[in-house]
Amino acid sequence: MDRLPIFLKLTNKPCLVVGGGTVAERKVRLLQRTGAKISVLASSVTESLQAQIDLGRITYFPEQYSDAVGAGFWLIIAATDDESLNHRIAMDADVAGRFCNVVDDNAASSFILPAIVDRSPIIVAIGTEGNAPVLAQQLKNRIEAWIPQRIGDLAAQAGRWRDLVKKRFGSLRERRRFWQRFFTGPIAEHLLAGRQVAAEKAMRAELVGEITDDKESQGEAWIVGAGPGDPGLVTLRGQQLIGRADVVLYDRLVSKPILDFARKEAELIPVGKRAGSQEMSQTEINELLVELVREGNRVCRLKGGDPFVFGRGGEEALSLANAGLPFQIVPGISAALGCAAYAGIPLTLRGVSGSVTLATAKLSNDLGPDWPQLLNSGHTLALYMGVGSIADIRRQLKDGGVSPDLPVAIVENGTTSRQRTILSSAACIDDDAKKANIVSPAMIFIGKSVGAAEHLQWFDGQTVNSDVVLDDLHTSHIDYLRLIETG
Ligand code: SAH
Repeated sequence: MDRLPIFLKLTNKPCLVVGGGTVAERKVRLLQRTGAKISVLASSVTESLQAQIDLGRITYFPEQYSDAVGAGFWLIIAATDDESLNHRIAMDADVAGRFCNVVDDNAASSFILPAIVDRSPIIVAIGTEGNAPVLAQQLKNRIEAWIPQRIGDLAAQAGRWRDLVKKRFGSLRERRRFWQRFFTGPIAEHLLAGRQVAAEKAMRAELVGEITDDKESQGEAWIVGAGPGDPGLVTLRGQQLIGRADVVLYDRLVSKPILDFARKEAELIPVGKRAGSQEMSQTEINELLVELVREGNRVCRLKGGDPFVFGRGGEEALSLANAGLPFQIVPGISAALGCAAYAGIPLTLRGVSGSVTLATAKLSNDLGPDWPQLLNSGHTLALYMGVGSIADIRRQLKDGGVSPDLPVAIVENGTTSRQRTILSSAACIDDDAKKANIVSPAMIFIGKSVGAAEHLQWFDGQTVNSDVVLDDLHTSHIDYLRLIETG
């Protein structure tokens, strides 16, 4: 270790930044976050620094650097664009016994500024001893994604409760045990979910000893949307909760890399298909969920897409609510949104389509009587679970008087490496789907804006183009581009 990482308290401490350009400005902004008393020495400064000076937030020395300047400051940042001047500042600082950072010059600096993840009061600093700042940035991004958003609130609250805990638990050992329980238990869970009142209630009960070893009070269910397949489409919150669960109940549609977010010790239970082929009924799933939470487990109920879009998440949440058990719901990217994006299908498109319906394949049952007119005038339909009903859909479109040329697309295994997209039309969709041997899971998109997909293929899946698409739609590539540009 070449340098010691320390956290410096700079509140009201005089600090000097030499230089007035954009780099200096960034350093000033960083120092300002600590409440330091900042001076800037430079012959000219950026507009934004000038504004800070005018507001009296920083002191300005509009002069040339001289070696006497640095002595009164706690730390100095040399941020001029003159390398030899920067070195001189560093040497003067060294003689005066002050810490100095020279921007982009690890060797000349007596301290370096790490990449920072700031969830105050939790702060993670990453340094590479000047070897690989870009790697430090990438690590920072990964840590940002991994650490729960409210970890700072959790730490701050623990800090506020320290004295109370000290009074309640006499020995160091008891206190350590308490904090170990605290950070992995329901109080921390409440705080991380933003439930301050529930956390305080649970804490009070814990401190006055009301809490028994009743495991029921510790269990919780998290109903999490896993997105349509690409593991990159799971939300950060979803990923974090998968990683904290004791038990993961997952659907058939949840992909393996997403299950890999779970802890090694977590129990993974497939509930879409049980032991080979027999599916668990929804009632059985609801009961299992309630039972596992009652036993005190933190259960992640992982569902394909979004839990509340044809996901039966509503029924599971109701079972938990009826049993008086705590739960959280984390949305996911539903198949309609994921498949549309990855197949280049704008669900709405300015001037072409201004509304969209998520539905299942029973058009005449599920939609209002005017759906054919809506489709003809630009409405988009995104149909789930329709693979077995494509012939039926074609017939319903025909009977409803929908234009035979209206674009229809099928996206199979959307957002995964096996994605296939069929671009077809209302009249031909049945034949085209048969030719391509489309299987579940697939989304069916119907509507004028679906035609734009022909020009918006970007994902490395397979696209099959029917001849009919767009030919008579009076919407050439140029028209679409114009719409997009002016839209
Ligand atoms: N809750 C899920 C939908 C579950 S219903 C969501 O919000 O996405 C199951 C249907 O979703 C499938 O029959 C199929 O129509 C669609 N689906 C799910 N994942 C898909 C995928 N990767 N590609 C295409 N369709 C998908």
